[in-house]
Amino acid sequence: MDNYTLTEEQRMFQQMVRELAVNEIEPRAAEIDEKGEYPWDIFELLKENDLLSLPFEEKYGGQGADMLTCCIAVEEIAKVCGSSSLILAGIELGATPIKIFGTEEQKEKYLTQIASGEKQVAFGLTEPEAGSDAASMKTKAVKDGDFYVLNGQKCFCTNGEIADIYSVFAMTNPEAGVRGISGFVVEKGTPGFTIGKHENKMGIRGSMTTELLFDDCKIPLENLLGPEGKGFNLAMMTLDRTRTVVASQGLGLAQGALDYAISYMKDRVQFGKPISKFQGLQFEVAELAMEVEAARQLIYRACAMVENGEPGFSGVSAMAKCYATDVAMKVTTQCVSLIGGYGYMKDYPLERMMRDAKITQIYEGTNHIQKLVIARQLFGK
Ligand SMILES: Cc1cc2nc3c(=O)[nH]c(=O)nc-3n(C[C@H](O)[C@H](O)[C@H](O)COP(=O)(O)OP(=O)(O)OC[C@H]3O[C@@H](n4cnc5c(N)ncnc54)[C@H](O)[C@@H]3O)c2cc1C
Repeated sequence: MDNYTLTEEQRMFQQMVRELAVNEIEPRAAEIDEKGEYPWDIFELLKENDLLSLPFEEKYGGQGADMLTCCIAVEEIAKVCGSSSLILAGIELGATPIKIFGTEEQKEKYLTQIASGEKQVAFGLTEPEAGSDAASMKTKAVKDGDFYVLNGQKCFCTNGEIADIYSVFAMTNPEAGVRGISGFVVEKGTPGFTIGKHENKMGIRGSMTTELLFDDCKIPLENLLGPEGKGFNLAMMTLDRTRTVVASQGLGLAQGALDYAISYMKDRVQFGKPISKFQGLQFEVAELAMEVEAARQLIYRACAMVENGEPGFSGVSAMAKCYATDVAMKVTTQCVSLIGGYGYMKDYPLERMMRDAKITQIYEGTNHIQKLVIARQLFGK
């Protein structure tokens, strides 16, 4: 049922990732969550199976995969482990600004290293006082001879402490407001750049979320991404594309929770029969399944629009992100209830899926902000 818009090649790819996820990632998922450590073994596994290089052009060592194929991989991994799905989602988020605005030299240098798995990437937009209102950022980049000097602080950066390459946004002209923001590539080890607080999170505990601190951090002029003053556009163009990926994480978590609940319900006997025989519960599961499938189709549509650069793709990718991640929260929460007390226990995966689902409603723009994006498209700015 979930395959009718996929090509034969995409279906085979989906099956390959599904088997990898079930056989190699699922058995590690509870431990990754419990320990709260970055799953380097899963990173290596994805590298060995050429999944890190999916979204990059062949000339940079990539597979040249389309948006939907990348999203299929994220969905399949998220079905069994939300944290592990962030390995691919983090690459999409961090590398997309370089893909969009990078010069040939920047792409050759950075995308090649990211595609090979030699280096990891992160995206630094959010600041302690500039979240949804990212344009009110305080981090400054001042031109000084052959360098820009960065001062300020980013927070909640996924991959913060493990990345080597960072797409960072800073004010180059504060008087120009939103048109005074520029994008940069910052490399780990640049003097004046350090990692701050490591966040202790509710979910996606195998993803490292940290502050980035810039104190007179000098970065070469050639690390500017695109024209000066176009950084905010670049950040928004990135999110317009990568929201399909977060949507797919939500979808994977929802489908994974539903699959688990259905299989549990077939085995769990109460009142002398499997609880799956109770029509009240069957109807509840049927409704959840409808919403999961609707989310999938919206994501597939958004991926096709992003891929073709169709007008209005930004609104539809915001719809997909908002809808699929709300479905993820609803489905995972109801699946905990559907299996009863065991749903609440850490010996079973559903409580982890519920905690992991929560973040998908928040990052890459909260779902309130997605509605803002959709409404702007409907009503104009
Ligand atoms: C685990 C994690 C990982 C993250 N990874 C990254 C990353 O890699 N890179 C990065 O740059 N950022 C990252 N973020 C930041 C994330 O994108 C922000 O947390 C998010 O955009 C919300 O910003 P905020 O937390 O400051 O909330 P706020 O902006 O303070 O929002 C608070 C509440 O107000 C609502 N709100 C705000 N403005 C409006 C409005 N105009 N209309 C209606 N409601 C509104 C919000 O929806 C929310 O409910 C991450 C966050 C988390 C928690």
